[in-house]
Amino acid sequence: MTVLDAVPTGATPQTKNRVGFISLGCPKALVDSERILTQLRVEGYQVADSYADADTVIVNTCGFITPAVEESLAAIGEALEATGKVIVTGCLGERPDKILERHPKVAAITGSEAVDDVMRHVRELLPMEANPYTDLLPTAAPGARNVAAPVLTAPVRENTRHGDVFAPSVKLTPRHFAYLKIAEGCNHTCSFCIIPKLRGKQVSRDAAAVLYEAYRLVAGGTKELVVISQDTSAYGVDIRYRESEFQEAPVRAHLTDLAVKLGEMGAWVRMHYVYPYPHVEKVVELMAAGKILPYLDVPLQHASPKILKLMRRPGAGKQLDTIRRWREICPDITIRSTFIVGFPGETEADFQELLTFLEDARLDRVGAFPYSDVDEADAGALTGAVPEDVKMERLARFMEVAQRISAEKLAEKVGRVMPVIIDEFNDEEGDAAGSKLIGRTQGDAPGIDGQVYLFAGEFAGQIKIGDIVDARIEDSDEYDLFGEVVARPDWKPNVPQMGHFGGH
Ligand code: SF4
Repeated sequence: MTVLDAVPTGATPQTKNRVGFISLGCPKALVDSERILTQLRVEGYQVADSYADADTVIVNTCGFITPAVEESLAAIGEALEATGKVIVTGCLGERPDKILERHPKVAAITGSEAVDDVMRHVRELLPMEANPYTDLLPTAAPGARNVAAPVLTAPVRENTRHGDVFAPSVKLTPRHFAYLKIAEGCNHTCSFCIIPKLRGKQVSRDAAAVLYEAYRLVAGGTKELVVISQDTSAYGVDIRYRESEFQEAPVRAHLTDLAVKLGEMGAWVRMHYVYPYPHVEKVVELMAAGKILPYLDVPLQHASPKILKLMRRPGAGKQLDTIRRWREICPDITIRSTFIVGFPGETEADFQELLTFLEDARLDRVGAFPYSDVDEADAGALTGAVPEDVKMERLARFMEVAQRISAEKLAEKVGRVMPVIIDEFNDEEGDAAGSKLIGRTQGDAPGIDGQVYLFAGEFAGQIKIGDIVDARIEDSDEYDLFGEVVARPDWKPNVPQMGHFGGH
């Protein structure tokens, strides 16, 4: 749970305009939080950094799996107790009964992707006097402020089911990386997942909207764009890959075309939630050509055809062949995946099949979760529930293999010099400022993969957060790398920079 602080606020302080914000869930939810925070700022609300300072609290919830639902309900309860005025939004908001059953006193509930609705409730709860000298939002007439639909200040306002899909200007990630949401919703029906019920069918953004957002981010100093959606490979299918105009040229809403254009901006471009459809090969070719990062996050979930069928997974099939083919095209590719162990009907033989796949595929990064029932998910009706102790035992065996492979693959990097993006300083008491750093290689996504611990050496004190340095890797363990900075090359994107960001 994150009680967000240090978010820039817009107008002159007024009483009763302080909004607390709790953001739960995945990067996709984080982007929704950024959009709401952007609009709060546009309308002159302050973001409170503690319950004590908040006049009302917005809780952006996650409703994906039972533990996430529980965490969301607990956060709502905590915020209610502290402030008495809570607006719930996000995935769990799509199931208001669930929330009202536990917390009947919440002030308002909206679903996900509902900036307009959230803001309407904020205005109702915390009406503000219009102030023509400090407001960022123009008002049509005295008093109209509190009932008017918000005016979005983003460069592109999209005409989709989600009229609020726009480029947020408040970012919750550090400036050097940003999530770029290219679509919302999902057309699949995986039996363990309720996202399509919560968020609806896929709605892709026009390529121009995504590209203008990326352009603005890179111009503002973002060096790494992390592309996300529920099913990134299916980007554009729902809008028939329609063309839109970016910098006076048409561009299709298709993953390959989008990747080419994003790659041209010169920032690191990282792809998440890519299903192994045939056209992904073209994207891997772009990786081999150095246009985008040689990194794919491919949620495979299992390897047994029987279990994949029960899961109703998209793109399931010749997974191993596909991975081998990708590695032929781009030998340096880092492949990350997630798996579920203990799915209903999983026998020891099915699990062994998964372990064998893991050994053969030698995935670089792996996450695994024990299966847990999700309310309203079809998998709950399946027979053959795996006992909890068996699930946990399988999870431990799975992670043992995954850890060994990860350690072996990281050991292969020792001795190499590779680019590392710096996320934070790692100085301890007694260290000279900026002498120890923590960063990530191109094979490490923020927040979920490993890190690189570096000595700055002769560059101590010269390196800033967000710099991309060259580092020699000197050691490794199961998840992380260790080394030293050997160069600090100039980094220049192909997008004009707004202001000066150190030229690095
Ligand atoms: S692909 Fe499957 S797991 Fe992913 S969001 Fe869609 S239905 Fe859920």
